Amino acid sequence: MTHVFVAPHPDDVALSCGGLIGSLRELGQNVAILTVFSGAGGVTDLSSYQREALGFGSKALWPDTQAFNRANLSADYPIDEGGEHAPPWAATSDRLDATQADADAAAKRFWQRSSWYRRASIHNEPLAGQILADDTPTQGAVLTTELTEAERARDAMAIRRLEDERFAYFAESSVVFLDLPDAVFRGYEGDAQLLGVPREDDRAPVEILRQEIARLEPQKIYFPLAIGGHVDHRLARDVGLEMLREPRAWVMPGPDWSGIVTFYEDFPYAWWESFRRLADLGDDAVGPLPADVSIAPEFADVTDQVEWKISGITLYASQLDRLFGGRKPMADTVRSYGRAVAGLGGLPGYAERYWASIRL
Ligand SMILES: [Zn+2]
Repeated sequence: MTHVFVAPHPDDVALSCGGLIGSLRELGQNVAILTVFSGAGGVTDLSSYQREALGFGSKALWPDTQAFNRANLSADYPIDEGGEHAPPWAATSDRLDATQADADAAAKRFWQRSSWYRRASIHNEPLAGQILADDTPTQGAVLTTELTEAERARDAMAIRRLEDERFAYFAESSVVFLDLPDAVFRGYEGDAQLLGVPREDDRAPVEILRQEIARLEPQKIYFPLAIGGHVDHRLARDVGLEMLREPRAWVMPGPDWSGIVTFYEDFPYAWWESFRRLADLGDDAVGPLPADVSIAPEFADVTDQVEWKISGITLYASQLDRLFGGRKPMADTVRSYGRAVAGLGGLPGYAERYWASIRL
């Protein structure tokens, strides 16, 4: 039995449910994250709007032919073999040869107790068939290699999936990527569209999500409430509502998804919008609930997990500036939000609030 958290995007579950995930893991419960819109949908190049909206700012990443490889640094002065026009501090080639001879002698002294010794080339050239560190792909900053490889594939979503995988590792959870294209790859542009009602032809991914969820045999499923109204969050929420609406469409004897389907409050949208009551969502969220199903608030005390939650969110480095303006303001906002939610339930410390479905 598993607790399945449905994330519209990589990072949503860590942001909204990190505290609960931490306490479930402490109790030894299984946690699986289903990240729905984690793909680029065949787009091979990013527009500057797409880049901004995905949290990567307007600065292009360096291709790895330029990043962190000293061989790509060009000399400030042209190499002057004759030494006639060299600046006074530049060594001539016979002085360099002398330096290399000194280095060889020093290496021999250092390694004198062994039957062999290592030489180092002051010209950064291979000696005796040894590979140069700069030519070894696993040397240097691994993260940079991954980032630039993602960029080479023109796939900024790869970076976000990577962050999600790190979080899953951190939270000892599993993560499944459905890789449906993010709204910015489905033609939504600008806040009015991105935070608006889904287009008529843009349907909630009910079948694919329902299939994955059923496969995991969940004890609880957590869907976003879509506070803030992001198109992708609405579509993910609508899958939850659809599951509550069609209990009999399932293979007999078919589980009753009420009591299993739960909704979470989308952070940081809930904080930005000072969300307090379901009525704050307007008719939008509660309206489509089936007539015989109701949802009621449940508070998860996350006082012992709030710092762990902050550490988890830190793993989403590509998003911190866009959402919070950095790591420190993120940590402050997570704490303030946790305290405010606890206050809504009359609790001390920090809390997250969930909305559990009940069949009437
Ligand atoms: Zn999201």
